[in-house]
Amino acid sequence: MNMVIKNGLVIDGTGARGRVSDIRIAGDTIREIGRDLSPNPGETTVDAKGMAVTPGFIDTHSHASGGLIDNPDAETQIRQGITTSIVGQDGDSRFPLSDFFRELLRIPVTLNIASFVGHGTIRGHVLGDDYKRKATASEIQRMRVLVAQEMRSGGLGLSSGLEYDPGIYSDTAEIIALAEVAGAMGGIYISHVRDEEDGALTSFRELIDIAEKGRLPAQISHIKLASSPVWGKAGEVFRLMDDARKRGLDISADIYPYPYWQSSIIVLIETREWDKRELWEKGLASIGGAKNVLLSSYEPDPEWVGKTIAEIAKMSGKDPVTVIQEIVARTHGEKRAGESVVVTAMQERDIRAFIAHPRIMFCTDGGLRGSHPRGAGSYPRILGKYVREERVIPLEEAIRKSTSLPAARMGLRDRGTIAPGKKADIVIFDPKTIHDTATTKSPQSQPVGLLHVIVNGVPVLRDNKLTGERPGAVLRRS
Ligand SMILES: [Zn+2]
Repeated sequence: MNMVIKNGLVIDGTGARGRVSDIRIAGDTIREIGRDLSPNPGETTVDAKGMAVTPGFIDTHSHASGGLIDNPDAETQIRQGITTSIVGQDGDSRFPLSDFFRELLRIPVTLNIASFVGHGTIRGHVLGDDYKRKATASEIQRMRVLVAQEMRSGGLGLSSGLEYDPGIYSDTAEIIALAEVAGAMGGIYISHVRDEEDGALTSFRELIDIAEKGRLPAQISHIKLASSPVWGKAGEVFRLMDDARKRGLDISADIYPYPYWQSSIIVLIETREWDKRELWEKGLASIGGAKNVLLSSYEPDPEWVGKTIAEIAKMSGKDPVTVIQEIVARTHGEKRAGESVVVTAMQERDIRAFIAHPRIMFCTDGGLRGSHPRGAGSYPRILGKYVREERVIPLEEAIRKSTSLPAARMGLRDRGTIAPGKKADIVIFDPKTIHDTATTKSPQSQPVGLLHVIVNGVPVLRDNKLTGERPGAVLRRS
């Protein structure tokens, strides 16, 4: 399929100012950019007058791989302009990647997928159920072999989730030993760090240590300062990053644009001592109290979903800590049941500082049908709230942080900018109206103002309607 996109404000992803131009696409590739390109016979035309035309967004921390078989259209992703989802995050990847990649091409899917190699996945493979301990030297050796295998299949690097099972039981030396393998093969290290609350800065130092000793670039996943002792300390984070840079290290981060995280309720405390009331009291106090904890899914009692712990406590005549301990007992005891919370624990001043930092790129941390609005609203929210309304960064810079910056970081050389020879992943939106509508009450609500999305030269969203085409490719580090 060949086409010409006419009269749009082309923002090419490099950070340069937008210019009104036309773009010619042949097959899956951008061929020509200029004024007054006229369509050749057989070429279709898209009129983009008054619209911004940008590279497709590259989501550096995605959970879109969950449920792709049932939802290969990935509608919530496409509708926010994502053309590449980078999965295998938080230490959790599909194994082996070669089978996963084959499956994606067989389905097929609307958007491009690339994956990290999950440390937790590899660890689970080698240690099995006996994972609540340090790994032995021979186990680490076996893990290194598996990391190398997955990197050869096209992994972008090593991911870890050190706040979760089984990553939480590994020490820094184990991560360094595996990161070294990924780094030697051209990969980076990306991590949901050990502690995003009081110990956030210590956790970032651990990541920098891993980058230094493992000799590879590193990225902090969905960077946040999520408890009162670290609120307002974005400047200290930047000093850590700058100091590392002076020592020749390459440290970056990604962020999703919301002041609330979603995870398991158990991450409110650092240890697994769930019977200790004082730990929960401290955890609740550090994020501003039980009113900031919203139960977003809860299998044992769906009636409670959508209510805060403060509301549930009031309804049931119990104190918040008792309510939490009952939830944990019913979801993390003998029988595991699903549970998740949305916790408002970040401050806007820190989010704005991170959004403005030149080495921090954007991500969603979202899934296809998640209960956090980031899965449907992240990029339109950045462009509406933080660019147009609050003017935290210019539009061109927001596009750079959604396109060429992540492409360079992830080693996707033929994407992330609009230039002749690049793959034709393109988004067309109205910069005057684009905004998110997803909320915690309606987390999959569609954004407004984003009209066309093209993946590998094929329209997947046209005039705000899904086309049903599935041109998504598997992307490997190049
Ligand atoms: Zn995470």
